Amino acid sequence: MNRFPFFLFDSAENKKVEFLPENPDRVKIYSCGPTVYNYSHIGNLRSYIFVDVLRRSLKILGYSMDQTMNITDIDDKIIRESISRSVTIEEFTKPWTEAFFQDLQKLNIEKLEHYPIATESVDEMVGLVEKLNANGYTYEKEGNVYFSIDKLSSYGSLSKIDTSGIISGARYDADEYEKDNVRDFVLWKAPKEDGEKSWKTKIGLGRPGWHLECSAMIRQIYSSGVDIHTGGVDLLFPHHENEKAQSEAAYPNEKFVKYWMHCEHLLVDGQKMSKSKGNFFVLGDILEKGYDWKQIRYVLLSFHYRTKLNFSFERLNEAKLSIQKIQNSFNRISDKLNAQDIAFLNFPSSSDEIIDLRPNGFAKEYFLIFINAISDDLNIPKAIASIFDTIKLFNSSLDRSSLHKEDLLDCLKYFYQINLLLGLLEFKSTSEGSIGISENEIQFLIDERIKAKKNKDFQRADSIRDELKAKGIQLEDSKDGSVKWKRME
Ligand SMILES: [Zn+2]
Repeated sequence: MNRFPFFLFDSAENKKVEFLPENPDRVKIYSCGPTVYNYSHIGNLRSYIFVDVLRRSLKILGYSMDQTMNITDIDDKIIRESISRSVTIEEFTKPWTEAFFQDLQKLNIEKLEHYPIATESVDEMVGLVEKLNANGYTYEKEGNVYFSIDKLSSYGSLSKIDTSGIISGARYDADEYEKDNVRDFVLWKAPKEDGEKSWKTKIGLGRPGWHLECSAMIRQIYSSGVDIHTGGVDLLFPHHENEKAQSEAAYPNEKFVKYWMHCEHLLVDGQKMSKSKGNFFVLGDILEKGYDWKQIRYVLLSFHYRTKLNFSFERLNEAKLSIQKIQNSFNRISDKLNAQDIAFLNFPSSSDEIIDLRPNGFAKEYFLIFINAISDDLNIPKAIASIFDTIKLFNSSLDRSSLHKEDLLDCLKYFYQINLLLGLLEFKSTSEGSIGISENEIQFLIDERIKAKKNKDFQRADSIRDELKAKGIQLEDSKDGSVKWKRME
């Protein structure tokens, strides 16, 4: 079988279930994306990494993806900010949208198939309101159109919110509102007199409410529902409950979302992130402190998505060593092969190639342990632990020189597969001299150092030793003056 099973924790069912998508060759996933009015903070980045981990894991398991993340550019805050700066919504949001994509790129987050923008999906939103009007779920008050939640008996089933206290006809007009307060929500807002941006549409002048945007964009991209809908836990209520209500009321004969997945919060040093506590970070803040993107990516992906991630700078430091260990083990193996043997690692991979490059010899059983961990609701901590067990074993086999070329190639396939998930390793051939440093360069520097010592230039000799050490190369001087080297684990 080419496809491994996948089990996920479905928030609607409140339990782990087997993932059975409508079409495994086109898995449809929708994730709530950024509201583009500022830089993404690391809590937001965690949820984007979660989407990336889900995507990459499903690809390793043998599925093909068709994923969407929306860009919210119609929202109370955005409208307020653009009015106060006397710019259009587009002018205000453009740099923030670009910053969002740059962050994704910096963290090596794979590009998804679709990134719809709310301002370009207004027609679809209007269509949804018309459908809801026709199906009898709406009412109008002072030009605003509201969704009447007591008309839909399933309201509350996703978030398990207590609906007993519903005040019939109590309404929320704004996009930002209190949690746990169950009220009718606004679908379409009448234009305000303060110059707020509004759209001229079939249902009149106005603008959409926030919840409507996601339901409409799903419809626009897929013309149906999706297999998985993801978002942060804070979106479960009211946002996802309302999305579900609108979509199911508009299209009662269709399944809107088969599985819901929610990613937990991020804490910094055990505390909720806030600007007043001084523990609020965006990606640029951390990069400026001298940490690299790999350390950040590693920390953000190494926690289970359903646990709170406790971010700290100590963890970033630990991440550096962990990444280096995996890279070094790969380097030791690829050093024993020639550039041609390892060239396959750098080619972009289609889903068929991913399957063709599964280990099927020496490394197969270790690959299957890794697979079992990710199939079990993305148990990344367990998957990473299995990687360290495996490289320990690879390393001791290398120490004993008990690996044949076939075995080494199978190990490379193992690294290829785990890196589809991690996205952290460098796979350039050593003979091309681009994994930090090639054997030729190492030998060149060792000769330089011997020369420097002969000339009593000990400063130069020490600086070469340090330079090599920084690149993970350890030197061993022997009494006869010759020098041995090895890559540090
Ligand atoms: Zn959404």
